[in-house]
Amino acid sequence: MSNHSFLSGGFAPAPESADHIDIKQSYDHFIGGKWVKASARRTTINPATEAVIAEVGEAGKREINAAVKAARKAYDGVWGQMSGAERGKYLYRIARLIQERARELAVIESMDGGKPIRESRDIDIPLVAAHFFYHAGWADKLEYAFPGRTPSSIGVVGQVIPWNFPLLMAAWKIAPALACGNTVVLKPAETTPLTALKLAELLEDAGLPPGVVNVVTGGGETGKLLVEHPDVDKVAFTGSTEVGKAIRRSVAGTGKRFTLELGGKAANIVFEDAALNQAVEGIVNGIFFNQGHVCCAGSRLFVQESIADSLVRKLQKRMETLVVGDPLDKNTDIGAINSKEQLTRIKELVKCGDEEGACRWETGAKLPRKGFWFKPTLFTDCAQSHRIVQEEIFGPVLAIQTFRTPKEAIEKANNTPYGLSGGVWSDKGSKVFKVGSALRAGVVWANTFNKFDPTSPFGGYQESGIGREGGVHGLGAYVNLS
Ligand code: NAP
Ligand code: MG
Repeated sequence: MSNHSFLSGGFAPAPESADHIDIKQSYDHFIGGKWVKASARRTTINPATEAVIAEVGEAGKREINAAVKAARKAYDGVWGQMSGAERGKYLYRIARLIQERARELAVIESMDGGKPIRESRDIDIPLVAAHFFYHAGWADKLEYAFPGRTPSSIGVVGQVIPWNFPLLMAAWKIAPALACGNTVVLKPAETTPLTALKLAELLEDAGLPPGVVNVVTGGGETGKLLVEHPDVDKVAFTGSTEVGKAIRRSVAGTGKRFTLELGGKAANIVFEDAALNQAVEGIVNGIFFNQGHVCCAGSRLFVQESIADSLVRKLQKRMETLVVGDPLDKNTDIGAINSKEQLTRIKELVKCGDEEGACRWETGAKLPRKGFWFKPTLFTDCAQSHRIVQEEIFGPVLAIQTFRTPKEAIEKANNTPYGLSGGVWSDKGSKVFKVGSALRAGVVWANTFNKFDPTSPFGGYQESGIGREGGVHGLGAYVNLS
């Protein structure tokens, strides 16, 4: 069944309206509660159409200095001394405003970054609000989070985030920082700055004291200036392992606290006794959610040999039904690849998979002519040494291998420099526990995949990073304990 015969028989286009949204042509930096004129600018485009959406600032040294200074002033003068209960009120207010503006934020997120509206509407933005609500609750209860210890705020936090979950990563960073009494300078990624800037507008509306959160836009250089600024007390970074390593080198010996959330190459392990239709849904969600631009994506599938052929056939049939196209269409399962650069990287790695001898299969999806797109793809006959098995593709591409015994599955799954997440599918609880506990990964899902909750810590081992975000563990990254 081809994608299009299914579609033409199934769904009429259902585009979400973009009429109600308010995007300015040009944005400045949000520093000290004011919009400070940007001295240089760049544009952000819609990756589904390549149309320019808006201009944003490109912050240099002067702007970073001003933002850190504003954050310091707000920390010393207001936020660092405010009671937890008062801070909590602001966080609740922010959470409620996010809920009120959820539709607009979801549409802008999908326009700026290419993710399907179904995901930005049902996953990203609700989780953004949930993170603020959750941390609002902690703001006046921090002493209970650390029994026998006395928590205190750290100071000014420099936060640098990637383009795959722009507003959600902003929430993961800002909410715990504020709950714990710190002030923030945030730099969003250059391809997806708009929802962070909309958040800045929302923070103004929430009456957050000036300088408590500052948003400066720009590229990697801007991020570097921020993390290297001497008056930043803590660096929180989510992004590539390569940049994470550079940041670790730059903070070494400075006394700065840091957390790094980096890449991943998660193993999703399916045993022959698993509920296979459910497993297929989990595999699809694991690798095709957000075009595979997910650090914890289930990008390596391990299938027990006895069911490999039938499972791959089921998976291919299911993949043919995935609707690729307009991110703003409510039927869309797979939106646009975030940028031309990312598309080039995906193509390079896929070519490498072909050259190294893996067997490629892709769906019959018809791709739009403009914009950046990639068909849902899988590779069979993969070897552990293949680059598509070792390296993060960060796109809708699954590498499949087989195994015979749980021991073999564990060994293969752990044969990676990463360790962010994993999944185990089996009808037997004991097997799930045994295999799940043996995986060297920060998060392991059992008979599900890609589930997120603010109460649950997230983070990695080895090259996937240092520190946890979310839950009580995540709070620990934003306090000093005595
Ligand atoms: P990236 O190049 O590392 O960029 C991440 C952020 O760092 C962006 O804001 C980027 O700015 C900035 N940046 C770039 N160079 C910098 C430098 N030298 N110093 C300070 N900041 C710098 O990663 P990406 O390509 O945007 O994102 C994809 C990667 O992030 C993937 O490898 C993925 O696994 C990882 N990721 C991890 C998690 C997690 O929680 N573990 C979550 C999401 C993504 P510009 O983009 O503006 O250049
Ligand atoms: Mg963009």
